[in-house]
Amino acid sequence: MMIVMKTTATEGEVQSVIERVTRAGARPHLIRGEERAVIGAIGDAEHVAGLELEAVPGVEQVMPITKPYKLASSQFRHDAGPSVLEIAGRKVGGPHFAMIAGPCTVESREQVLSTAHTVAAAGATMLRGGAYKPRTSPYAFQGLGQEGLRLLAEAKAQTGLPVVTEVMDARDLDALLEVADVLQIGARNMQNYPLLAEVGRSGCPALLKRGLSSTLEEWLMAAEYILKEGNQSVMLCERGIRTFETAYRFTLDLTAIPVLKEMTHLPVIVDPSHAAGRRGLVPALSQAAAAAGADGIIVEVHPNPDEAICDAAQQLPADDFAAYMERVLMAAAVAGKTLSPVPSPAAV
Ligand code: PEP
Ligand code: MN
Repeated sequence: MMIVMKTTATEGEVQSVIERVTRAGARPHLIRGEERAVIGAIGDAEHVAGLELEAVPGVEQVMPITKPYKLASSQFRHDAGPSVLEIAGRKVGGPHFAMIAGPCTVESREQVLSTAHTVAAAGATMLRGGAYKPRTSPYAFQGLGQEGLRLLAEAKAQTGLPVVTEVMDARDLDALLEVADVLQIGARNMQNYPLLAEVGRSGCPALLKRGLSSTLEEWLMAAEYILKEGNQSVMLCERGIRTFETAYRFTLDLTAIPVLKEMTHLPVIVDPSHAAGRRGLVPALSQAAAAAGADGIIVEVHPNPDEAICDAAQQLPADDFAAYMERVLMAAAVAGKTLSPVPSPAAV
């Protein structure tokens, strides 16, 4: 249920509704819009209805959430609009566009530091890089693990870029949380529900990739597992889906962007690299995604892609990144979005 407070409701009235909802055994989620507070009560709908909250001071309206994905639904924020997340001082969502760039995987100190410096100098918002890699073959390189995390920490310390890195196993969470500003959940783990719940409980912002063959509703239900634990910082990431087409790696579902904007308040990031599978397609897909209203791009960049340990064909050469990014930002501007400002050192 959604409890929409009056614009004149006092803090005491908001807290009193939260207490009633909690006593009824439901979990309250408070959203503060510019005009009013809205409280989502997730639990037994009949129980909450029995509270007759319409009669409680400060309450304007009580409405059911009709979608199966409750906390992720646009309905949930009522008139508060899309969510704007704040990650290490960088805003993502609404008018704020994010550019997340870096190698597929952390390979060496030199590789990750040089990429981090290049993308930071071009104005990227965050650094990506996997230390734990979900590889199709168990015989392929699986990532540097803890050593990779140490290198990401060094790159963050040198450039100030927040780090986005993948969690595959909840047993690695403590180590990951020392470094990660955003935990990436890969396409193959989108429906690993215990992992999603752990990421939710960690409170760390999450980037949830779309499963290889998942519908938008399945994807939003997966996001719900994170949100349900009280973690409101979830970004969705479209990275291409399986279709009958074999001329490229996956089919980037651009239609998902405006449709998700109807369904959910969560920011939508697009990964053109894994969708395309080859770097020549990455600029066009990135610009199309940005013009279609994506809230950001996550792209693979490598100082010497042909020598990359994984995903060599799709990583952009670091030397090309600044020009690439400039063009993507022009497309984002078409959709009314600008790069989220990097906080000044004094503000961090
Ligand atoms: C990645 O981003 O490194 C990755 C493995 O992507 P996906 O889970 O989308 O395949
Ligand atoms: Mn990759």
